[in-house]
Amino acid sequence: MDQSAFTHRFNSEAGVVESICHRCFATIASATVEADLQTSEQRHTCCPENHLRLELLASARQDAPS
Ligand SMILES: [Zn+2]
Repeated sequence: MDQSAFTHRFNSEAGVVESICHRCFATIASATVEADLQTSEQRHTCCPENHLRLELLASARQDAPS
């Protein structure tokens, strides 16, 4: 998977770096060393359930009266 599809968020409290997928918004991995996230990112496949949930949320927002 494309490396740019992930955001690395530094969690200073826990002392780890978390990798968040841009497509499904899941935190797919956390590691003490940023480079360690790469393996998990390469293996990550977006969860279809997450996609479905996001689509439902998006359509619910569109249907909501303004
Ligand atoms: Zn994903």
